[in-house]
Amino acid sequence: MRGLYWVRTDLRLNDNLALKTFLEECSEGLILWCSNKSTKSSGFFRQNFQEDTLFYFNKKLSDIGQQLHISDEEIHFELPQIFREFNFDKIYFSTLSAVAEKKEEADVIVFCQKHNLMWEAFDQETLILKKDLPFSLDQMPFIFSDFRKKIEQELVIVSTVSQTLKRNLPLKNFNYQNKLKPHPQLLFNGGEESALKRLSYYFWETKAIHTYKETRNGMLNENDSSRFSPWLSLGVLSPRMIMEELRKFESANGTNESTYWMLFELLWRDYMKLFSQKYQKQLFLEDGIKKGKHYSSIRNKKLFQEWCKGITPEPFINANMNELNRTGWMSNRGRQNVASYLVHSLKIPWTWGAAYFEEQLIDYDCDLNWGNWLYLSGNGSDPRARIFNILRQSEVYDPNSLYQKKWLL
Ligand SMILES: Cc1cc2nc3c(=O)[nH]c(=O)nc-3n(C[C@H](O)[C@H](O)[C@H](O)COP(=O)(O)OP(=O)(O)OC[C@H]3O[C@@H](n4cnc5c(N)ncnc54)[C@H](O)[C@@H]3O)c2cc1C
Repeated sequence: MRGLYWVRTDLRLNDNLALKTFLEECSEGLILWCSNKSTKSSGFFRQNFQEDTLFYFNKKLSDIGQQLHISDEEIHFELPQIFREFNFDKIYFSTLSAVAEKKEEADVIVFCQKHNLMWEAFDQETLILKKDLPFSLDQMPFIFSDFRKKIEQELVIVSTVSQTLKRNLPLKNFNYQNKLKPHPQLLFNGGEESALKRLSYYFWETKAIHTYKETRNGMLNENDSSRFSPWLSLGVLSPRMIMEELRKFESANGTNESTYWMLFELLWRDYMKLFSQKYQKQLFLEDGIKKGKHYSSIRNKKLFQEWCKGITPEPFINANMNELNRTGWMSNRGRQNVASYLVHSLKIPWTWGAAYFEEQLIDYDCDLNWGNWLYLSGNGSDPRARIFNILRQSEVYDPNSLYQKKWLL
C-alpha cells in the first residue's frame, strides 16, 4: 500500500501511533508537513521554534530512513498535486480539536471520498483518549472542577506506544526544496532530544517536580514550573510521555501534592482542548459562550499598544510583557495578570490580547491560548470573575522585585 503521513502537531517518533501505523502498513510512503492558519500567524519566536523543531524531526526521521517534506501551502492545495504524482491509497493523520484544524480534516476527508481513498485519524492529542472519557462531548461538564472530578473517578490513561519503528520504508522521491534550518539561539530548542532532556532534568536530575505545587506560580527561575509547554504545543512531547515519566518518578520517590498537581494541570489542558472542540468558532468571539458581554470593552488602540510594548503605568505588567517580547515566554502567573489587566483594568477586548499572544508566544497552542483568554474574560466557563489586584499580585509573587528588576532593564 502507498501511504501519505500528514504530520501535524505530532512532531515526534516516540508515542506516535499515526507514524507507527503508517510505517507498518505501507510499502511506499511520503511524509508531509503543510503550512496552516496557525503557522501563518506566528511571530519571530514561534516561527523559529517551529523551524527548529521541523529541522530536528527531519533528522530523527533520517535515522529510520525517512524524510520530511515541507510545503508552504495548506493541505487542501497540496493534496491534488501530490496525488497526481504519487498515487497513494491512504492518508494517516492525528486528529486535532480547534475549528481551523477540524476544517482541514474535513477537507482531507472530502478529498479521500472523492478519490476513493482510505484515511485514518488518530486520537493522540490529549492525555485521556476521547473514547475513554466518561461522558460524550455534548455532556462534557461545563465547569473544570466537575470535569476533573468525573474523569478522576474512572481515570484511564493508556500507555505510550512502543518505540520500535519500522525502518527504511521505501520513499516516494518528491521534488521539494526543503528549507530546514536550526535556530540554536532560542530559549528552547526544538526536537525530541531537547524535550526529553528537559523531562529528565525536571523530574530526575533536579527533582523539581517534587516541589512543583509550591513553585509553579513563580516567574523568575527556570524550574518554577516544568516548561514543557513549547514541546507540548507542537507535539514533540505527548502528555502520556509526561505521565509515564511521572509514574516512574512517583514509584521511585513517592507521591505528594506536587506530583499530583502535574496531572491536575494536564487535565486542564485536556479540558481546554475538549472545550475548544465543543464550542468551535465561539472560542474566538468576544461574547464567547455567554450571551451579551460581561464587561465593557473600549477599542482604544493606544492603550492596547502600550500594553503590547510594556509601557503601561504598571511595572509588574511591563516586566512580564518585556519578557514575552524578548523571549517568546511568559509564566502562567504573568499570563493571568497581563490578561486580567488588559481586559478588566484597561477594558480592551480580550480577543485583541489573545491575538497578540498568538503571534508572540513560543508555546502558542490555539485551544489553550484562546480558551484561557476567554475563561479570564468572564465570557467562558469561569463561574467567578478573574480580576486581579496587580499591586497585590506583585507583592505576593515578586516580593523582592527581583523579577521586575530583571525584565525592566
Ligand atoms: C492568557 C493565557 C494564555 C495562555 N496561552 C497558552 C498557550 O498558548 N499555550 C500553552 O501551552 N499554554 C497557555 N496558557 C496556559 C499556561 O499558562 C501555560 O501552559 C504554562 O504557563 C506553560 O508553562 P509550563 O509548561 O511550565 O506549565 P506547568 O505549570 O509546568 O504545567 C504543565 C502543563 O500543564 C498544562 N497547563 C498548565 N496550565 C494550564 C492552563 N492554565 N490551561 C491549560 N493547560 C495548562 C500545559 O500543557 C503545561 O505545559 C495560557 C494561560 C493564560 C492565562
